[in-house]
Amino acid sequence: MTGNQTPQITPKASFKQYCRQESETAKLAKAFAVSLEQWISQNPHAHLNISLEGDLGAGKTTFARYLIQGMGHEGRVKSPTYTLCEPYPIQKNHLSFTAHHFDLYRMRDPLEWQEAGFAEHFDVPGLCLIEWPEKAEGTLPPFDIQIQLQAGADENERSITINALSEAGKTAIDSIDIN
Ligand code: ADP
Ligand code: MG
Repeated sequence: MTGNQTPQITPKASFKQYCRQESETAKLAKAFAVSLEQWISQNPHAHLNISLEGDLGAGKTTFARYLIQGMGHEGRVKSPTYTLCEPYPIQKNHLSFTAHHFDLYRMRDPLEWQEAGFAEHFDVPGLCLIEWPEKAEGTLPPFDIQIQLQAGADENERSITINALSEAGKTAIDSIDIN
C-alpha cells in the first residue's frame, strides 16, 4: 500500500485475516459486525470511529457493505463516492444507532468536510466508517479502529488487518470470532 495510511500508531490489539476470496471477506466483516454489535449493546450512546485504508479496488467499500448489512441494514449499500457520506440508521434488538459511511476520495479540501457539517455525525450513537480519511487530514476526530486492506497475489486475495487504536476500539474488536 502506498500513501494511504493514517500515521502509524502502535495498535492496542490487532486481528489479521487472509481472505482468499470475497466470501471470506464477507465472513470476516460479518464476524466484525457481531463483535461491534456486542460493544454497541454495552455502550448504546457511544460512538466508534473506523478508518478503511487501502489502494483503489482493495475492497474498502465491499468490506463496509458487508459490515453494514451484517449489522442489520437490509437495503443496498452504495458507494458514497459522489455524495461523500451515506447514513444507515439501524434498529436491531432494542438498539438504535447509525452507521455513517464516508468516501472522501473526491474531497478537494479538508474545509469541505467542515462546511458539509459532517462533524456532527461523530456525536451520534453508532459508528463512522471512513474511506480515504487522509483527504480530511487534521479535521477528523481520532480513530478507534483502523482497517487495512491489501491485495494479494491472486485477483481475489486480500489481506485484512483490523487494528484497535483506543481502549474502546480494543473492546469492540475483542470478540471477533471467525469460526
Ligand atoms: P475500494 O472501495 O477499496 O476502492 P471496492 O470495494 O469498491 O474497493 O472494490 C473491490 C473489488 O474487488 C470489488 O469488485 C470486489 O467484488 C472485488 N473483490 C474480489 N475479491 C475480493 C475480496 N477477497 N475482498 C474484497 N473484495 C474483493
Ligand atoms: Mg471505495
